[in-house]
Amino acid sequence: MAKQIQAIRGMNDILPTQSPLWQKLEGVLRSTVSAYGYSEIRTPIVESTDLFKRSIGEVTDIVEKEMYTFEDRNGDSLTLRPEGTASTVRAGNEHGLLYNQEQRLWYMGPMFRHERPQKGRYRQFHQFGVEVYGIGTPDIDAEVLMLSARLWQKLGISEHVTLELNTLGDPAERSAYRDALVGFLEQHKDRLDEDSRRRMYSNPLRVLDSKDAGVQALLADAPALMDYLGEESRGHFSQLRELLDAVGIQYKINPRLVRGLDYYNRTVFEWVTTSLGSQGTVLAGGRYDGLVGQLGGKDTPAVGFAMGLERIVLLLETLELNLDLPAEVDVYVTAMGDNCRIEAIKLAEVLRDALPELSVMSHCGGGNFKKQIKRADKSGAAIVIILGEDELANNRVAVKPLRNDSEQQIVSRDELVSFLAGLS
Ligand code: ATP
Ligand code: MG
Repeated sequence: MAKQIQAIRGMNDILPTQSPLWQKLEGVLRSTVSAYGYSEIRTPIVESTDLFKRSIGEVTDIVEKEMYTFEDRNGDSLTLRPEGTASTVRAGNEHGLLYNQEQRLWYMGPMFRHERPQKGRYRQFHQFGVEVYGIGTPDIDAEVLMLSARLWQKLGISEHVTLELNTLGDPAERSAYRDALVGFLEQHKDRLDEDSRRRMYSNPLRVLDSKDAGVQALLADAPALMDYLGEESRGHFSQLRELLDAVGIQYKINPRLVRGLDYYNRTVFEWVTTSLGSQGTVLAGGRYDGLVGQLGGKDTPAVGFAMGLERIVLLLETLELNLDLPAEVDVYVTAMGDNCRIEAIKLAEVLRDALPELSVMSHCGGGNFKKQIKRADKSGAAIVIILGEDELANNRVAVKPLRNDSEQQIVSRDELVSFLAGLS
């Protein structure tokens, strides 16, 4: 037998049994962004490598070691997008959507990072994200957080996620802080792990979210970014907190939260869960007022977040919530005997015309009564419609419930539509 080819490690198939949950989630995402008036943007999966280097930052996990980068046939360096923000800004600049305008956008789709695959961490994964341009005030920071809180509420997982919040200040404040932090780290070089020592000069803020316990202990005595913020940054942060308090969104200030991408300023946040082990961040984002300019556009304030769909799916599965997933098939139509086959196919079409919400599967492939009923059962349909010679002759069908003990009923063909409509 020929050897079977397997999927790429860390790249998952979403199988038919899993799709209803994905569709449910995607439906909740769409209805929520629409409730806030956001518009969808779809960008290509492949972009110029430079786009990500210039936006995410050279000294970040993503750019240093996670990108799928390749040369195309023209010798251009291309990269499978590792996240959605850079592409959104690129498209916004290119099509003149950002300058002097307000845009509330959302996107959803696959992202690619060459990481070590494990639960909640894959090489192809899916993100849903929102990006808002042209509004620099904290009310919009609060809005994207309210939008995310509403997602949890609609999915029934509000009790299982918590919001962590921090502010990174503006570039000048951060740079003053960076100097102070590097000074502190230099004095305690011997207590740093290898990663932190390497990052100390290239990207010292990333030392703050080091996973190393020794480094974390050391950081208790490190200078705090909050002390380096100017009045405007402080004001922005306290207004945001006020708004969140006013709408009843609880949060925890986490001064160590710096995020892995370079482009953030002021507000940063993560929604985290303790139900997924170490891959606990389900949604992350913040303000990035400098990025549009950095990518060649006119300075435009911006804020957004990205959510990992796989982690939400895992969380929903772990919590075993009753999500009321729609059935794939409602009605299965069978035909007993050659004469009935064409009539049954026509009948199924009549039902689809009359009841567009109903999912009607027609039996194909022939076979006896037992085989057809078995197929009907396997389809998951709630009821099977049986058209045999006798029914055909009398302009009737038999309607047999498959998921409960109710009796089979004989229904006139003329009344079948209203009969089925009455069931749902
Ligand atoms: P992490 O700390 O888990 O590596 P990150 O800071 O790299 O996350 P972002 O780039 O901010 O994550 O992406 C936002 C969200 O996308 C994450 O919070 C997570 O839910 C999801 N995500 C990121 N990388 C992966 C991945 N490799 N597999 C699955 N989901 C991912
Ligand atoms: Mg990561």
